[in-house]
Amino acid sequence: MITHRHILFIIAGFLFFISCSDEEVVNIYSSRHYDTDLQLYENFTEKTGIAVNLIEGSSDELIERINNEGINSPADVVITVDAGRLWRAKEAGVLQSFESDYLSETINDQMHDPEGYWVGLSKRVRGIVYNKEAVDTTDLEGYWELADDQWNGRICMRSSNNIYNQSLVASLIETYGEEETEEWATNLVNNFARSPQGGDTDQIQAVAAGLCDIAIVNHYYLARLIRSDSEEDREVASQVAMYFPADEHGGAHVNISGAGVAANSPNKENAIRFIEYLATEEAQQYYAIANNEFPVLTTMELPEVLGQFGNFDTDGVNVAMYGINNPTAIRVMDRAGWR
Ligand code: FE
Repeated sequence: MITHRHILFIIAGFLFFISCSDEEVVNIYSSRHYDTDLQLYENFTEKTGIAVNLIEGSSDELIERINNEGINSPADVVITVDAGRLWRAKEAGVLQSFESDYLSETINDQMHDPEGYWVGLSKRVRGIVYNKEAVDTTDLEGYWELADDQWNGRICMRSSNNIYNQSLVASLIETYGEEETEEWATNLVNNFARSPQGGDTDQIQAVAAGLCDIAIVNHYYLARLIRSDSEEDREVASQVAMYFPADEHGGAHVNISGAGVAANSPNKENAIRFIEYLATEEAQQYYAIANNEFPVLTTMELPEVLGQFGNFDTDGVNVAMYGINNPTAIRVMDRAGWR
């Protein structure tokens, strides 16, 4: 039996539907968890009148969720860190290609998916952090030389199930080939001071504590410790320094955080507008610099903490290859005994 109450609900639902379809929105599915990103979303709404709805989760969770939602998925923009994960999202069919004159003009080709499914919005350099007392800086060359005997028992490393290391190995495979890279990985593993454990910050702490002399970590983890409110963190940071492999030693491995338009985006125009906004100077200030990442806009002035790491030469590998070579990288690391 239909009561007045039911009718009221139906009317309320209808009005809700009308008001929703009137309001401009963009639905962001993000695996970045930074407070500064929230500030940025507010700024975007203020500027454009487009409301931002945010769904957070790990990259794999978000991909699964969008797939389950299927054709009715409200997802407009997918944001994640590491080109390897952007590639996974594309492979899983949760992205669509999109075009933007602004993004192709302002962002270097190397930071784009060649088929236009995603674009990089900040850069993270996977550098070599070293103990200032224990390492002679003239001994530092490239990732490739870390397999040499002189580093035996001196390297701390994160496990091979971490995407950052998978992308590094994928990049080396692109440059040196699978066989050579497997040999390199085998020798590298032999140089480990301990079995792989912990995150990037743990590696820096271990280097500072003298458990090992060097480690490979993303630069912003050290920047965070340098800028930390905790004296303990700053003390750790003061024991170590960051080295970016120079051009003559193959250059530095540069990864990205980035975004793409969701496959069934109901607000595609807003999605593109939002991604373009993330690449404006105003947004890069929050999106990249506040998190100690390098901006993709080369016109930006770098804050002191990034300036002190010095310039970096990239290894020249298109970041899309990190994803394409990812399955091979995992096999290579596994065969090399990289736990
Ligand atoms: Fe990270």
